[in-house]
This record gives sequence, structure tokens and C-alpha cells, in this order.
Amino acid sequence: TLFSDFGLAQPILKALASEGYEKPTPIQAQTIPLALEGRDVCGIAQTGTGKTAAFALPILHRLSQNPRPKAPKACRVLVLSPTRELAGQIADSFRVYGRNLRLSTSVVFGGVTIGKQERELSGGVDVLVATPGRLLDLIDRKSLTLRDVEILVLDEADQMLDLGFIHALKRIVKLLPAKRQSLFFSATMPKTISSLADDFLRDPAKVAV
Ligand code: AMP
Repeated sequence: TLFSDFGLAQPILKALASEGYEKPTPIQAQTIPLALEGRDVCGIAQTGTGKTAAFALPILHRLSQNPRPKAPKACRVLVLSPTRELAGQIADSFRVYGRNLRLSTSVVFGGVTIGKQERELSGGVDVLVATPGRLLDLIDRKSLTLRDVEILVLDEADQMLDLGFIHALKRIVKLLPAKRQSLFFSATMPKTISSLADDFLRDPAKVAV
């Protein structure tokens, strides 16, 4: 399989070429076609497998095929990450793979002053990467709405539960539009995680590497 086999938009293929990516990794080869079809995906994959590009590439493609003006305090894609470090890395990946597209990516997490994040979100963004607690703070302060989310990613679900984010996630899922695409990833899939996955996913395709 080659990246060009997936039908990804040319500006994305160009970014991958300049990153020196030659072939999709196994999680990418499985996930990208399903996500491009609009399917929900439940993936078991560890960090280091190329999981970030597995969700970022089809998401960037779908955004690029359906451009929409930004709505104030809204985002089209929400990526939930358990830690600020991972959130920053995910946002960097969206910026790298999307560098030839005109899309905006923001990242928000706790432990830093909220005002700058509120100002960044005020005009709306295409892709928002967030940790759950700060996301809810921003929503409670009316600085963000999830009304326009078209695609949700929940990354590292097992770490989310270990860090005590279960109640935050259950609140967030209730604020999301019912009509959306959801992509759910975890390194492991015990009962507690698969029952959380059931709250987020509709008829998911399952992938594992
Ligand atoms: P991740 O599992 O998303 O944290 O990615 C692990 C590392 O692999 C990152 O540094 C990516 O830049 C890199 N990577 C992801 N996909 C590919 C690919 N298809 N070819 C080469 N490197 C890749």
C-alpha cells in the first residue's frame, strides 16, 4: 500500500513526501480507508505505531474536501488527549500534515492561564486538541461550544481513565452533536474501556495492530 492509494488530497501527499514518509504503517493502512468513508473506528494501538497520522490524515482530507467558514467559539474537529504533552504533539502533527492546507489548529490544556486560549478560540478553529478538564472549563465559561463538531477523536483512552477523566468524558460526550464521526484509540481494551467506547461510537469498525 502507498499513501497515494487512499485518494488523499494532493496537498496532504505533498506534506507526507516532504516529511519523508514512504509507506503507511499497519495502523494507518487499516484506519485511513475506513475513516475516509466516514466510518467510526475503534482502534487498539500503542504510541509509536503511527497512530496520530492514522487519524490526522483522513480528518485533514475530509476538512479540505468540505471547506466551511469558521464559526465563533466553535471547532469542526475535537481531539481529546490525556496529557498536555501528547496534546501538543498531536497539534504539531496536524500542523505538519496540513501545512499546505488553509486550516487552523489550536491546542488547549490546563495548568496555564486560560485568557490566551479563550482569545485564540474566539474566532473559531478547524481543529482543536484539548485535555478534558480545560475543555470543560472553557465550555463552562462560554468561551467554546461543541455544537459544530463534525469529527471527534479520543486518543489514549486507557490513560484517560487512569488519570481520572471518566466523568469529564461522560459530560463531554453529552455535549457533542449526535451526528458526527468518532475515532477512538486505546493501547488496551479491557471492559471499562470498551464500555466507554460504546458511549462514543456508532457501529464502529475495529482495527488492531
Ligand atoms: P505516533 O505513533 O503517531 O506517535 O508516531 C510515531 C512516529 O512515527 C512519529 O514520529 C511520526 O512522525 C512517525 N511516522 C508516522 N507515520 C509514519 C510513516 N508512515 N512513515 C514514517 N514515519 C512515520
